[in-house]
Amino acid sequence: MLDLHGKIRSRILRALLPGVPKVVWHKRDFRDTLPVKLALRPYRSSMLFTDRYHAAVERVVGRALPRGKLQYFLGPEDLAVADAILRAAGLDPARPLLGISPGANWATKRWPVERFAGLARRALDRGIQVAVQGSAAEAELGKTVARLAPGAVDLCGRLDLRGLGGFIARCAAFAANDSGPMHMARALGVPTLAFFGSTDPAMFDFRGHEVLFAGVPCAPCSFFGRRRCPRGHFRCMLDLTEDRAWAALQPLLSAGRLPLLSA
Ligand code: SF4
Repeated sequence: MLDLHGKIRSRILRALLPGVPKVVWHKRDFRDTLPVKLALRPYRSSMLFTDRYHAAVERVVGRALPRGKLQYFLGPEDLAVADAILRAAGLDPARPLLGISPGANWATKRWPVERFAGLARRALDRGIQVAVQGSAAEAELGKTVARLAPGAVDLCGRLDLRGLGGFIARCAAFAANDSGPMHMARALGVPTLAFFGSTDPAMFDFRGHEVLFAGVPCAPCSFFGRRRCPRGHFRCMLDLTEDRAWAALQPLLSAGRLPLLSA
């Protein structure tokens, strides 16, 4: 068993697997994490996460391993599940569709939902269908986008994992915060616009995609996000304007499916 996190929950999981050889991979060195936790300096990822994980597996097997591609594998029914939900919501899976994912676990990882709605309006004005994705707990975000961008369809709480993969695969482009759906979109080769505020985009490979990061001096102030901005100004996200996001999104909407990236 390879524990890539070394956290309390993964320790519990390890304890539940007696007799299984275990290797713990320390994702970050405490000399790197401590100053960030104490707000002494911003976090800077020294390498891509995929490289870290690859190196961890190589250490386990004791030899160099070939690189694969970052890839999300759709199940045989995923597209059909998504298509049924899209059609029931009045969307045509065969027509251009912008997927919007305004949620994220932590507040400091969320670009303002009103700005997502602004992107939705601009896409709708150009004849592009728009659907908002999120969990049931993110229902308010979906309702807000649908209210501020009439014509955008709110799918929050309606897509399970199968439907989510199929839905993202149907999108011409995907706009999302630093979140699971954003990574799924990249792994499906869907041109993706990612918003990063308090976390570090250097952890991930955005070749072929677009990432917006304001680069304010205090950012990134965390590894996973925070409940609120410790400085109170939240400039890491508020400095990312809707105009800038639209300029980044437009080429993605016409790019077509991207080749999958080598990990
Ligand atoms: S603006 Fe606030 S939340 Fe964003 S990186 Fe700076 S301190 Fe962190």
